[in-house]
Amino acid sequence: RMAPFGVPTLTWQENLQRNAVPLATTAAVVATLTGWLAWTLHQRRQLRAALRDKSALLDEVAILAKTFDSGQGIVICDTDGRIIRVNRTFTAITGYGAEEALGHTPGELLRSGRHGPDYYRAMWQALHTHGYWEGDIWNRRKNGEIYAEWLAISVVTDATGKVRHYVGIFSDITWRKQAEAQIEQLAFFDPLTGLANRRLLMDRLEQAVLLAQREDRWGAVLLVDLDRFKDINDTAGHDVGDAVLREVARRLQALLRDQDTAGRLGGDEFLVLLSAVHEHRDAAALAARTVADTFMAALQVPIALEANARVDLTASIGIALYGSRADATAGADLLKAADLAMYSVKQAGRNGVAFFDPDMEAAVRQRHALQQALSAAIRDGALQLHLQPQVDRRGHIVAAEALLRWPRADGSLVLPGEFIPLAENTGLILPLGAWVIDRACATLARWQHQARLASLRLAINLSPRQFREPDLVDHVADALRRHAVAPAHLELEITESVFLGDLEAARQTLQRLKALGITLALDDFGTGFSSLAYLTELPFDVIKIDQRFVARLPQHRRADEAVVTTIIALGHKLGIQILAEGVETEEQARYLVAHGCHLLQGYHFGRPMPIEPFEQHITQIAP
Ligand code: C2E
Ligand code: MG
Ligand code: MG
Repeated sequence: RMAPFGVPTLTWQENLQRNAVPLATTAAVVATLTGWLAWTLHQRRQLRAALRDKSALLDEVAILAKTFDSGQGIVICDTDGRIIRVNRTFTAITGYGAEEALGHTPGELLRSGRHGPDYYRAMWQALHTHGYWEGDIWNRRKNGEIYAEWLAISVVTDATGKVRHYVGIFSDITWRKQAEAQIEQLAFFDPLTGLANRRLLMDRLEQAVLLAQREDRWGAVLLVDLDRFKDINDTAGHDVGDAVLREVARRLQALLRDQDTAGRLGGDEFLVLLSAVHEHRDAAALAARTVADTFMAALQVPIALEANARVDLTASIGIALYGSRADATAGADLLKAADLAMYSVKQAGRNGVAFFDPDMEAAVRQRHALQQALSAAIRDGALQLHLQPQVDRRGHIVAAEALLRWPRADGSLVLPGEFIPLAENTGLILPLGAWVIDRACATLARWQHQARLASLRLAINLSPRQFREPDLVDHVADALRRHAVAPAHLELEITESVFLGDLEAARQTLQRLKALGITLALDDFGTGFSSLAYLTELPFDVIKIDQRFVARLPQHRRADEAVVTTIIALGHKLGIQILAEGVETEEQARYLVAHGCHLLQGYHFGRPMPIEPFEQHITQIAP
């Protein structure tokens, strides 16, 4: 870069490189130069230009001086890497004064020990090849404190390319590192427990799965869900809930090795990732089981809270294993698998441990498909009611039970045993039940105008969940009204399981249904908890003896006989009609009638059949 007057303008680096002398000297040289310029240049124009240049050069020197004393630390080393000059900020950041620093290498003074030899090797490599290196580096201040600095080093060479100096410019970025660490803490850790959060867990999970597959080793994930934690939160308050979660996290963390990760997925759900260190699947399973058992044992120590309060906790734990090349499970699938296993523990009554196995998944998938199909069937009105006759002692049909059938596209009929439990679990039972009530009332409405059918009762089954719906009574009353049906012709069958919960609420619902004038039947009697005591207090019109007692009847086993005859006798005493279900043979029918049974139902009198054939069947037989 040549100035108009033929004197090279020096950049500050070049200045340093050429002179490596104090600034005062540089300024003196500049002054001399400008004096010489003034003497040699005669033209006014030139003189004016020179004056302009002189002030530009002085400006540059001033800037350089300012830069040297700016907020950046500056250190200049000789070819041996020994410090020959530092600025004030160097002292402010490192704690070393200029006198202490001179003659030492920066490494001797500042090296933190946090970087390995590779780090410095790479730095020197860059300086040799590019003449420049820049990066974040951990250094140590004079007072021993470790700090982070951003550092840029330039190599200053002379005209022949020979190294003359190294110039380092740096700033303290400890605050930035702290902010970064804080951001990381927020992004990857659960603020309540300090455990890894879902994001970090999923990340580690993916890595662990990949590593396991590469090394053909086995590991495990444990999904831990606290039992009835919601109750603690609801009854003791969220502060207590939080304290419990923190303590659980602490106990969980305490039993893990360094290479394992515990985290909180959210709510009362924790995940433990046991790294894949086992050669065999069974070993990983055993290790996981041990962690699960140890944790359950740790939970048995009640959690002490302030004010002498204590909380007893249990957990449900699902375990899924991962590893081996063959089994390419993604982290998310693994989590799902552990979740299914955990769910199976919950269903089996909580407080336990279960392993996921692939059959479980197949069953779940099948269930899901069934659920979708059932939901569509309800929506499209594809379900049917089949009717099975109920006869009196003389064999006359006096009623029918409506039983749900689900015709599939392939012409097969799915029986309620397969989809009613599913409907109960998924809530589909409510629209399903509403449909049944409506169909039954519509059928009864039609029957009212046909001589042979007008006197028949039609019984429908109510599932426990349906029975507990608060608006059940209104719903039934509404259906009866809409179809203008005599309430006594509608019979509702209820199983004993509805009394397992709130007996008083169940009694009230029954009473309200009874008040509508509806006929009430107790279904599957003898299979539940069969307390005879409550029978006297509840307004049942019919008790249905479960078919399993009837099925054994011809053998005349004394115990079964006793059950059947006792129920019949009870019915007579209480004025309740007794119906025997599942009557398949003439012999059974005769036995039951002989012992005073009022009503009979079973294949012997007719199988469940679609509504139309049922109606034809009735109208054909003689009155
Ligand atoms: P349930 O109410 O005890 O119904 C009697 C079951 O016994 C029916 O099975 C019926 O087909 C069968 N059955 C009748 N006579 C005989 C016989 O002589 N021998 C034998 N072995 N079995 C006989 P299904 O139709 O499979 O229904 C099973 C259960 O599904 C019913 O038991 C009932 O609890 C439930 N269910 C059926 N329809 C509905 C409904 O609309 N709503 C609800 N919530 N549950 C229903
Ligand atoms: Mg029934
Ligand atoms: Mg039954």
